Amino acid sequence: MLVLVINSGSSSIKYQVRQVPSGADSRDAGAGEEILTKGLIESIGQEGAVADHSEALDLLAGRLDGELDGREIDVVGHRVVHGGERFSEPVLIDNEIVRAIERLAPLAPLHNPAAALGIRAIQKKWPHMPQVAVFDTAFHRTLPEHAWRYAIPDELYRLHGIRRYGFHGTSHDYVTGRAAEHLGVPREDFDGIVAHLGNGASVTAIKGGASVDTSMGYTPLAGLVMGTRSGDVDPSVLTALMDGPDGYDAERMDRVLNNESGLLAIGGTNDMRELVDLAENGDEKALLALRMAAYRLTKYIGGYHVVVGGAETLIFTAGIGENSAPFRRMVLEGLGALGVTLDEEANEVRSDEVREISGPDSAITVLVVPTDEERAIAEASVGVLEDRG
Ligand code: AMP
Repeated sequence: MLVLVINSGSSSIKYQVRQVPSGADSRDAGAGEEILTKGLIESIGQEGAVADHSEALDLLAGRLDGELDGREIDVVGHRVVHGGERFSEPVLIDNEIVRAIERLAPLAPLHNPAAALGIRAIQKKWPHMPQVAVFDTAFHRTLPEHAWRYAIPDELYRLHGIRRYGFHGTSHDYVTGRAAEHLGVPREDFDGIVAHLGNGASVTAIKGGASVDTSMGYTPLAGLVMGTRSGDVDPSVLTALMDGPDGYDAERMDRVLNNESGLLAIGGTNDMRELVDLAENGDEKALLALRMAAYRLTKYIGGYHVVVGGAETLIFTAGIGENSAPFRRMVLEGLGALGVTLDEEANEVRSDEVREISGPDSAITVLVVPTDEERAIAEASVGVLEDRG
């Protein structure tokens, strides 16, 4: 089947067309997976560019006509950031589902409205095209209440939905499946920890193949030290600054914590390669940034090891997790108390395959598993279509 995978932002549409074999078994084997084309439409709504998502879709359709040699798209799969409490798995989209995605906009003000615009633009252009929504939060719907609750007044949860949701779910889910496959264990028996380390970063505790805790929270700001995001800070820092003489308001606070913090704030750049180079050349700030990020992650891993009742596997994935051998080494050096050891040579290998980087005597198997959210969305979309029969 041909799947058009769409990731709509407020001013951009990222897309891929993938060939996905029918039948879950052939997909598990990874047979016949192929990217036919991919691209990006930018600056939507800006002067001199495409006017809106509908026009962007016309442009996209024109490109596909040229590139697919008359082959037709069977299903469109959308990445949707927020599924709230309702969506625990991918769903076939109808009008009520689009409205539900729009109603969740207060929880993801930048992302959900953009996804809905993309879905509506396709409904308008290809009214009979099946569309599937794949939610970034869905995989974390298995968190127990004691993990997703915040210890704040009940009405804040009941009236405003303030709770931990967790993100990067499609990636955490996908690499968990790949790791179980690689290790030859049934997914339901997989107990481990996934560290998705990209520009945004989160870590998830996996028990019996399901998410039982995760470092991101109400929004993707919580948890680890990220490229430009602070991760966990004492919430009083916000109120102190907003009450203080410098007149921080909510918008400025949001910008500081999301865009001006993290590795960038401490080390002067959020590019992991640059940071490692700087640190190797004696730059104290870069070294501190790396230490802080690695330290925060090791604390989460230690905690989640307990949460899952003894992790058997630790997975590194995404831009930094897949590519930065020095950062992986720093993290593993902090895990000595768990009996984790590193195979230095294996850690340096670069590859698109799942690979093991722990030493033969390591108490926990450490894997690098390349993530592929588009592939996961494409396969989920075909799965939903097949289930519909
Ligand atoms: P992502 O958000 O998954 O695309 O990851 C982006 C992050 O991966 C950035 O912080 C990059 O610095 C980092 N990254 C990408 N390629 C490499 C590489 N070859 N070595 C180290 N870090 C990398």
